[in-house]
Amino acid sequence: MKIILMGPPGAGKGTQAEVLTKELNIPHISTGDMFRKAIKEGTPLGVEAKRYIDSGKLVPDEVTVGIVKERLAEPDCQAGFLLDGFPRTVPQADALENTLNELRMKLDKVINIVVKREALLKRLTGRRVCKGCGATYHVVFKPSQKGDQCEQCGGELYQRSDDSEAVVANRLNVYEQQTAPLIEYYQAKGLLLNIEGSDSVEEVTRKILQALGRE
Ligand code: ADP
Ligand code: ADP
Ligand code: ZN
Repeated sequence: MKIILMGPPGAGKGTQAEVLTKELNIPHISTGDMFRKAIKEGTPLGVEAKRYIDSGKLVPDEVTVGIVKERLAEPDCQAGFLLDGFPRTVPQADALENTLNELRMKLDKVINIVVKREALLKRLTGRRVCKGCGATYHVVFKPSQKGDQCEQCGGELYQRSDDSEAVVANRLNVYEQQTAPLIEYYQAKGLLLNIEGSDSVEEVTRKILQALGRE
């Protein structure tokens, strides 16, 4: 199955992607995760991406499209994939379409997770991420049973620098201006599935699998 998981920052894309990719047995392609890995490793891509991410801006399309193109050409994507956080602009969506055509692939569905702004603010500012494995927690909604350590790998939990209140407000505005237009874009292609995302993690997963015809 070839799917895009869309939604504003904090909608629960990463959280749902973890579960869905296991359930559907497809690779998880998160541009945010790829950038954070590059930043941690100090590669040229990381140095460039950091300038934008720290202020809540989008990394330029040429850079982002390039890394996704490379990733989709890898053999494990042939049978399916889940794109999380890409595309985020109309030019990225057009580039994706071209790439998929070249690779003779076709998107099955675009899942749009819908959550209100006030809830997004609470989710983002309380988010904590594992330094070791990238697992996502929340100080109130999904605390680790091991305190400030990861339940899965024991790694240290930290707050992403772009999850500070000032940067979060910027990211939500960038979403409205540059990414929200993709809702109509995929609606027009008949691919869009809107999923209400303010219920529990388990309930949202159930609704997505049901909408995909997997339950
Ligand atoms: P995104 O990848 O869309 O930015 P995340 O999956 O990282 O979002 O989720 C943002 C924060 O909200 C995380 O701290 C996560 O634990 C929490 N969260 C995710 N889904 C839910 C949910 N259904 N209810 C409450 N909190 C959630
Ligand atoms: P979230 O879904 O919580 O906003 P992500 O991890 O998807 O977080 O993205 C973090 C940051 O990485 C974004 O604010 C942006 O700067 C950059 N980024 C991720 N994906 C893209 C993309 N498709 N295009 C441009 N920038 C991106
Ligand atoms: Zn961990």
